[in-house]
Amino acid sequence: MTATQDAHGRAAAGQGQDYDAIIIGAGISGMYQLLRLRELGMKVRVFEAGTGVGGTWYWNRYPGARFDSESYSYQYSFSKELLQEWSWKEHFAPQPETLSYLNYVADKFDLRKDIQFRSRVKSAHYQDRSRTWQITLEDGSTHSARFLITAVGPLSAPTMPRLEGVGSFKGEAYHTGTWPHHPVSFEGKRVAVIGTGATGVQTIQEVAKTVGHLTVFQRTPNWCKPLKNGKITDEEQKKIKSSYDEIFKRCDETYSCFLHTPDPRRTLEVTPEERVAFLEKLYETPGFGMWQGNFSDMLTDREANRVISEFVAQKIRQRVKDQKVADKLIPKNHGFGTRRVPMETHYYEVYNQPNVELIDIKETPIERITPKGIKTTAREFEFDMIIYATGFDAVTGSFDRIDIRGANGLSLKDKWKGGIETFVGVQVDGFPNMMMLVGPHTALGNIPRSIEFNVDWVTSLLKFMKENGLTLAEAKREAVDEWTDFVREKAKGLLSNEIDSWMTGVNLNVDGKSQRTLARYSGSAPDYRAWCDRVARNGYRELAMA
Ligand SMILES: Cc1cc2nc3c(=O)[nH]c(=O)nc-3n(C[C@H](O)[C@H](O)[C@H](O)COP(=O)(O)OP(=O)(O)OC[C@H]3O[C@@H](n4cnc5c(N)ncnc54)[C@H](O)[C@@H]3O)c2cc1C
Repeated sequence: MTATQDAHGRAAAGQGQDYDAIIIGAGISGMYQLLRLRELGMKVRVFEAGTGVGGTWYWNRYPGARFDSESYSYQYSFSKELLQEWSWKEHFAPQPETLSYLNYVADKFDLRKDIQFRSRVKSAHYQDRSRTWQITLEDGSTHSARFLITAVGPLSAPTMPRLEGVGSFKGEAYHTGTWPHHPVSFEGKRVAVIGTGATGVQTIQEVAKTVGHLTVFQRTPNWCKPLKNGKITDEEQKKIKSSYDEIFKRCDETYSCFLHTPDPRRTLEVTPEERVAFLEKLYETPGFGMWQGNFSDMLTDREANRVISEFVAQKIRQRVKDQKVADKLIPKNHGFGTRRVPMETHYYEVYNQPNVELIDIKETPIERITPKGIKTTAREFEFDMIIYATGFDAVTGSFDRIDIRGANGLSLKDKWKGGIETFVGVQVDGFPNMMMLVGPHTALGNIPRSIEFNVDWVTSLLKFMKENGLTLAEAKREAVDEWTDFVREKAKGLLSNEIDSWMTGVNLNVDGKSQRTLARYSGSAPDYRAWCDRVARNGYRELAMA
């Protein structure tokens, strides 16, 4: 027994371990959690795989990467001073601007001194006797803390396609989620893009501006909607800066924390003329309005969804000259809004360029990547560059890539094998003192709004524990059951949960992810917050504490 342990080998809070809390990840979640825990006087260490802060906006440097959330609704809201100091230049900021913002935040709050970069966490094991977590980095070093806080990101574990020969290609090859820091030129080159999700769409429309020849390999077309981005004028800037209270209040009130709210009317209760006029207006509205602010039954009523999808299909037919190509770009296996809607700027017009070709890999599947390019069942292509816009092992991917073991050596991956179960997306029974930020089953939507809530909730819990001399918090089994049932209940009747997508846990490039699961909470953010607030107000009865 050491001086810092009691008779049961348990370390007292703040003693016998390297840190009070270890946070994994220095994106928006990890940075804000660090700041909040410092305010509690806790000794905190953040381990981050990258060489800088920013998470998503550090890694995704691919051409065309930018927000789909309005810049001013996405940023941190916790500091009025910061809100006034930072001026967004565009309504939907490009990645370099967002990364600059997050670096500015790191400087302003002196965050870097507690962040260890180039430090990928390989394992995190709970020590039953000392009630601490032992973290091992890829370099073999170990670190311990009372609390383990995961801020690993819902979309941060890139996946490559399961194709033979990946790695044999002799030209340039990039994954959008690990895009290099050096400039990449497309000029005069023969470029292939594999993938047409939100990232693929942003990449394609940008690469097409300078490329020699572009070949797009598409498995599933998505319903894309014009972003309608623009510079923020001085006048708009003044208005934005004077209305932050209203902006964030509105985000707090909406279903998914966006500025857009659904129209209370049902799609088919209005006249066809009214409907078309409304949809035309939404099509021209910047951002997610058409997805988040459409008729109230768009995502629950099949016929409503069909009618709205047909409106968008018509737009695609109008914008793409070759109707055979247009047809390939129109989704057939899901309706508008039932998967993440990519935002675009002249995406469909790209296919009118003579130097752009669309290959439907459901018709002619890719057989393999070759040293010179890509071989499908119909043709052999030669390329100078292949861009993998094949997305992420979403939601649980970054957890699965760490060997996380809770009490009695229970592995988190095994625990979730039969389906994800959490308590408000923050805790898992059997994993004491582990808190997840934007983990599975938390409200997502306009994510930083959910991040700030999650972080504040975890901070209040840790404060409560500190004030009450508690060193252990673990969700009770019945609390996990109750929350998981609520998540299931909220998923019912939503067309999006009948579709394969990362939101339903499907990724055919990942073992064990071919079946739909409830990967996310699909109820409203206000309902989510109400549940969490009730738990806090009642003194965390849902958690076993000691
Ligand atoms: C291209 C793209 C565009 C997006 N656009 C929007 C948008 O417009 N609006 C919106 O609301 N959301 C958007 N998102 C979602 C975005 O992920 C969140 O908004 C937000 O950035 C999540 O922040 P985070 O800190 O929780 O996670 P992340 O930003 O993903 O950060 C997680 C960090 O954890 C680190 N990490 C993970 N595992 C380990 C490990 N084992 N060891 C050490 N470090 C580790 C990663 O390196 C990363 O830096 C977008 C996502 C992508 C990929």
